[in-house]
Amino acid sequence: MARHGGRGWYGKVAGAALGVTVLATGASVWTAQAGTEGDSTPKATAPAKPGSDVKPVDTSIEHASDAGARGINITIDDGPDPRWTPQVLDLLREYGVKATFCMVGTQAQAHPDLVKKVVADGHRLCDHTVSHNTAMDKKPQSYQSQQILDAERMITEASGGVRPMYYRAPGGAFTPYSRQLAASRGMRPLGWNVDSKDFERPGTNAIVATVERELHNGPTLLFHDAGGDRTQTVQALRRILPRLKEQGYSFGFPVH
Ligand SMILES: [Zn+2]
Repeated sequence: MARHGGRGWYGKVAGAALGVTVLATGASVWTAQAGTEGDSTPKATAPAKPGSDVKPVDTSIEHASDAGARGINITIDDGPDPRWTPQVLDLLREYGVKATFCMVGTQAQAHPDLVKKVVADGHRLCDHTVSHNTAMDKKPQSYQSQQILDAERMITEASGGVRPMYYRAPGGAFTPYSRQLAASRGMRPLGWNVDSKDFERPGTNAIVATVERELHNGPTLLFHDAGGDRTQTVQALRRILPRLKEQGYSFGFPVH
């Protein structure tokens, strides 16, 4: 089961000293909270690459959209996959939507053409580890480091040098260490607010209904373009994207 990184998000801790971010537009409906894993943040260091342009980013788990008060972040996880990713890319192009692709390192390595296509279409890359171990928060730091840094390298090589801008732990299994490490590599920890549950293949109608029902939770929506038959995901996106546009939403990227 996926762990839900966005739970407890709905402004519950607004006003608490937890690093609450309010969207720049001042809309009070959607606020984003920082990670809730506790205050201790062990130091994590990554090997410095000579001439690297890596700039550290904030270590808190981001949920907000750079597209403003009615911005939506479409995030697509676990690919790329030669069958499903092209279909998702076609849909996104059709509706003029930019998305964030959280890629598994081995998938990126196996399909560099797809990684380059994602980048060429203006989407952003996100590091989703090498092995997609949803229990990696229970693993030693050495394991977490290998999973994150190897995937970063695989994705960057596959893309032809475009680095992932975000890090999303499989199943939301972040640790303070992994957040610190990713952030030191310029990858903002990325959560989600709405799990479409598309991975469970509940039917296209159910996926659409889940998104509409939970949209009030916040702007970052979770879908998948790999890990099984994603026909329902593609069909659901074909309905969700135009509907959200009609409702006045715009599409952007998670705040970096
Ligand atoms: Zn995943």
